[in-house]
Amino acid sequence: MIPSRQSRRILIRDLPVGGDAPIAVQSMAATPTTDVAATLRQVRLLEAAGADLIRIAVDSKRDVEALRQIRAETTARLSVDLQENYRLAELVAPLVDKLRYNPGHLHHHEREKSVEDKVRYLVDVAGAHGCAMRIGVNAGSVAPHYKERFADDHLGAIVQCAVDHCGLIDDLGFTHYVVSIKDSDPKTVIDANLRFAEARPDVPLHLGVTEAGMPPDGVIKTRIAFEQLLSRGIGDTLRVSLTVPFEQKGMEIAVGRELIDDIAAGRFRSVPPNFFDGLNIIACPSCSRVENTAFIELAEEVKRATAYADEHDLTIAVMGCRVNGPGETDDADLGLWCGPTQVHLKRGEELVGAFGYDEVIARLREELDALIARRA
Ligand code: SF4
Repeated sequence: MIPSRQSRRILIRDLPVGGDAPIAVQSMAATPTTDVAATLRQVRLLEAAGADLIRIAVDSKRDVEALRQIRAETTARLSVDLQENYRLAELVAPLVDKLRYNPGHLHHHEREKSVEDKVRYLVDVAGAHGCAMRIGVNAGSVAPHYKERFADDHLGAIVQCAVDHCGLIDDLGFTHYVVSIKDSDPKTVIDANLRFAEARPDVPLHLGVTEAGMPPDGVIKTRIAFEQLLSRGIGDTLRVSLTVPFEQKGMEIAVGRELIDDIAAGRFRSVPPNFFDGLNIIACPSCSRVENTAFIELAEEVKRATAYADEHDLTIAVMGCRVNGPGETDDADLGLWCGPTQVHLKRGEELVGAFGYDEVIARLREELDALIARRA
């Protein structure tokens, strides 16, 4: 049930992706990168679960030093997630097999330089070290220029951003890249990837529903998107993002392979038409940027403590860090993003306040009750 794909075949070290290559399954280490022992344990756990590629976040030179030690201890294929500090690319490229950059974050550093120059720098670095690349567009961090240009057409903004960055990389003669366009809403993931695949069927696609949250809902949301895309021959590699404790991260690989096998065998699960009705909790899968591991328990507690509001069409977002948390909670009715000792509670884009981990649930319920009362 998975038709042949039209994308070109690229290599991530020795891993073929795209064309008629098997769909690669990847995941990400969720531990702080500077905790070398814990991150190595994550890498080994994911490798044992069958990960084709393992991503690690690098935000600082201390992370680079830790990555160097991790690289020395494992032969696993590694990919690095460059967020805001794109200049770290030249330090990490010798240590990894793939670089991921987010077009929405390229404007943060060296603002006097053009995005084109920054992309050229990244391509030069990747080319010099034999790395593949990923243009990783995230619906929660759209580049300001596209936000202005597309105003209310969010889908148009994220798809055009991906298409434009492909053009920049093509113009430099670099071909070993993939694209991802992720969102926490599977419907957006489906629509954006369909639209992108129509524009650039030759570019391999990395699929994922970001911040899918905890199982079983996180698995269901991911399945909804993957069934619709893989069954149309769209998707060459994928990641299932689940909010689970560190030692259970192998579940992301197991679920990814199960979904591919099910779709290939025609085992589609029908999704009840009312799945999206009622309270929707989205939660990030956590990564090395989590500054307090209490985040995962908090996400579970949010689900338990708000179950009474199950019938209300509201979204609560729970994010693990200050890097992506503030932006990625903007679209939710209520959002929480976690710092080292405090959790920031938001009502839409507005900050309600910062609260201790032990007090934020009560404040969240007050906000939720007020929101329900206002809507009534
Ligand atoms: S929100 Fe922060 S902690 Fe969560 S996955 Fe994204 S970068 Fe990592």
